Amino acid sequence: MADIDKLVVTVNCEECIGDGVCCDDAPNTFKMNDDGCAEVLSGSTDDRDTIVGAAKNCPTDAINVKDKETGEQLAP
Ligand code: SF4
Repeated sequence: MADIDKLVVTVNCEECIGDGVCCDDAPNTFKMNDDGCAEVLSGSTDDRDTIVGAAKNCPTDAINVKDKETGEQLAP
């Protein structure tokens, strides 16, 4: 199972400023949509640390990551 499938990853588009930092950090997980908000790619092959690290790097804390099984809050 890919690491992305063990996580719940969401982006709050009200908080996203569209700088693309997450897309640079985890290009298999995030891409910018036409509205200038990052969206999550379901088929990501990025590992857990890469995904969580990218979320933590978001300057506005717009990315929320939880462990799907335990519910542990991993970012922000
Ligand atoms: S790093 Fe945060 S603010 Fe930047 S594009 Fe990603 S979600 Fe948006």
